[in-house]
Amino acid sequence: MGVSLSTSDSSSEYYSAPNSPDLSFNQNYTENFTEKHSVACQTDLSFQKDLSVVDPYWEVLDPKPDIHVLFEEFNTKFFGGQLPPIELKWNNRLSITAGLFIPDDKIERCKIHLNKPLLELRPRKDTVQTLLHEMIHYYQRVKGTRDNDHGAIFKYHMKRINRKSGAKITIHHDFIQEYESLKRHWWKCNGPCQEVVKRLADRTPGSKAHKRKCGGDFIKIQEPENKRMRTDP
Ligand SMILES: [Zn+2]
Ligand SMILES: [Zn+2]
Repeated sequence: MGVSLSTSDSSSEYYSAPNSPDLSFNQNYTENFTEKHSVACQTDLSFQKDLSVVDPYWEVLDPKPDIHVLFEEFNTKFFGGQLPPIELKWNNRLSITAGLFIPDDKIERCKIHLNKPLLELRPRKDTVQTLLHEMIHYYQRVKGTRDNDHGAIFKYHMKRINRKSGAKITIHHDFIQEYESLKRHWWKCNGPCQEVVKRLADRTPGSKAHKRKCGGDFIKIQEPENKRMRTDP
């Protein structure tokens, strides 16, 4: 609309003129928006403190975060600064595990590894949530908490941090549920083992070893919808 959004007194008067109430609304909106979202040229980044750790804005501002900086930030925000420095690094060999906490009798020898190939292809928030998950394990180790892997105390901290941060930390170390949901070809063994096998591809399971041990055959019990539509006349 070509109107400059100056905040000087005279233009404020202009915007609050009775004939242009919408403009004053726009101005307020633009000011709020600018306050929250325009950072490129600002040196004062204090507004960032108000953003949730998984705010979509971070995906743009800092898509490839320094995990050591995140660790320190989360340590302060969610763990009262009680986590000692730890070996924290990207790992190329974690297969489908997004993150791993490696405990040790000596706290200073514990490690947190994050799956580089997996997480670098995913949104930043997945790195944040994976790191927070592993940090909860570490916190429990530091505190000497007696809990199962993802028992009541783990869940207590998970929910506490989710509430405080807006994150969605889960009890999973991977995206396997997401991956599993893509496996739409299912078979079930008709022998004594009754094993159910789910696969991405339409490739019937069964090995010589299984045949020898169980004797059963794998019978298709589910197929993807689109496939059924193609095969049914
Ligand atoms: Zn875990
Ligand atoms: Zn079987």
